[in-house]
Amino acid sequence: ANKLGSKKERTLAMVKPDALSRLGDILETIHAANLIVIKAKMTTLTLSQASDFYMEHQSKPFFSNLVQFMSSGPVVAMELMGDEAIGAWRRLLGPTDSAMARQEAQASVRARFGTDGTQNAGHGSDSVASAAREVEFFFPSTAGHGPSNTAQYTEC
Ligand code: ADP
Ligand code: MG
Repeated sequence: ANKLGSKKERTLAMVKPDALSRLGDILETIHAANLIVIKAKMTTLTLSQASDFYMEHQSKPFFSNLVQFMSSGPVVAMELMGDEAIGAWRRLLGPTDSAMARQEAQASVRARFGTDGTQNAGHGSDSVASAAREVEFFFPSTAGHGPSNTAQYTEC
């Protein structure tokens, strides 16, 4: 914890296929909340990759729709850093169901750009452990060929 009692965290944020055209608006929201984008990647997930990413939900009735949707077009994955970034980004996203999000007084990313219960504009890690797994999923620490993912912001 820093002297204000908050904790610097990293989290994995994803702009889902239904909200890719609103990437600029979502980046503005991230910026306004004092979260920093330290890594970013645009990619189209295969069905297999989407299934791996959401493996905790494999027994759910919505799993098939979810992974079809998540592999239906490009996504942008970002590693965000900031004070209590995990909870901060999930609060900015709002409730899982976009229709529920639109019932809330507070405008959220899902209220503004989500479609329904599955197509809900964005993803955010729900814990320190899932953030570590999900950041590694999109930005593996093992070096490959070509430009590396090691460019890092440092605090100033
Ligand atoms: P969150 O993304 O808010 O952490 P979950 O981890 O519970 O929500 O679910 C992962 C994703 O699966 C959601 O973002 C949404 O796309 C989809 N999903 C979750 N619950 C449902 C549901 N009841 N019906 C349809 N799709 C759902
Ligand atoms: Mg979740």
